[in-house]
Amino acid sequence: MTPLHDVRAMVLARCAIATPVRVARADAANCIIASDVVAAEQVPPFANTAVDGYAVRSIDVVDVPVELRVIGELAAGAAPTVSVTPGTAIRIMTGAPIPDGCDCVVMVEDTERVGTDSVNILKSVPAGAAIRAAGSDVAEGATVVTAGMRVTPMIEGVLASINATHVVVYPRVKVGVISTGDELVDDGSPLGAGQIRESNRTMLVRIVEEAGATAIDLGIIRDNEDELETALRSAVSTGGCDALVTSGGVSMGDYDIVKAVLSRIADMNWVQVAMKPAKPFAFGTLKNPAGVQIPIFGLPGNPVSSLVSFELLARPALRTMMGFGAAAHRPEVLAITDDAVRRQPDGKVHFDRVHASWGSDGRVHVTRKSEQSSHQLASTAVANALMMVPDGNGLTAGDNVMVTFLGADAGPTAAQ
Ligand code: AMP
Ligand code: MG
Repeated sequence: MTPLHDVRAMVLARCAIATPVRVARADAANCIIASDVVAAEQVPPFANTAVDGYAVRSIDVVDVPVELRVIGELAAGAAPTVSVTPGTAIRIMTGAPIPDGCDCVVMVEDTERVGTDSVNILKSVPAGAAIRAAGSDVAEGATVVTAGMRVTPMIEGVLASINATHVVVYPRVKVGVISTGDELVDDGSPLGAGQIRESNRTMLVRIVEEAGATAIDLGIIRDNEDELETALRSAVSTGGCDALVTSGGVSMGDYDIVKAVLSRIADMNWVQVAMKPAKPFAFGTLKNPAGVQIPIFGLPGNPVSSLVSFELLARPALRTMMGFGAAAHRPEVLAITDDAVRRQPDGKVHFDRVHASWGSDGRVHVTRKSEQSSHQLASTAVANALMMVPDGNGLTAGDNVMVTFLGADAGPTAAQ
């Protein structure tokens, strides 16, 4: 058996980072920026008012109250036509450009309108008050978005604010997802003798998307070597897949045809990972017609094993290909187990499914699901983290443990 850490290092070493592409901003959501973005425009483009109020000369409002003549009005989107002169004010709305002649804005709450022509300023404000300087958010020429950043909704907003219509990002890898097994039936059809419902590919397609990649559902392949070989070869040629994820067929059974086919057509590493669940794992590459080595992740068939194997080995690799760097990995967080865990030494790290939440002590606490078999997806589905139980005799309630969160909103739930 090989330690998880070493298996992961082997996988990462064989997964090359994708070649950056220039895409429309709207297509870059959640991708990693590959080239720094320099602001061609400043934000805001002109000095403008942060409040609704009156644009005045600070020198005119040193002693208050003072009555000023209102000589104009400026809404957001309007261009100033008149200047503020001594003893005058211009009614101005948030976002409108600061007219010439004034140096501050008094908010409307600190004024009192006198008829249509005048306003009483009730509060003295200094020069610069309520004025947002041109470029005070982003200076022209500033490097606002740098290589390595993920295009979050906020970053997309920033890019829009500087008119960056296109960005250079690492592309989403296209990941073909295949389930294998004669026993598998898709939703809908009745179950025959010995058949079960397919669930891995349904789950994996979504998890691949959640990881930031594009999933291509390649269906269920029967335990037939020719059928599988054809499916794999077309996935990396006409299918255009940049990576493949298979489930099932990688252990010691007589019909473990994934093992048989990949051994023949791909450059594979067959690994027994020193962990439970998900001990068997296959990783390798299959050359596409352009000569590019396409990574293949052969996950074990049991649904929980598939999940754990994907999370701990495939996900970091796919995200590394997409430029995620350190963020390719889920953070490991120190938590406290509220349950004792009994186990036997077996040379493996156990990844038990747990529910993690914030405790009233401000720390993350986990409770262990009682169903921990690798076919028990339902209990895993309501867990939100994997707890690392080191090789040995188990844990005592109150022990420190490392946990890795699962899911899109990875993290502990609120205190209960
Ligand atoms: P295998 O790795 O092919 O020997 O499969 C191990 C176990 O996982 C068997 O009980 C399979 O029936 C089950 N299994 C394999 N693939 C799937 C799948 N796509 N969905 C649900 N269960 C599966
Ligand atoms: Mg099978």
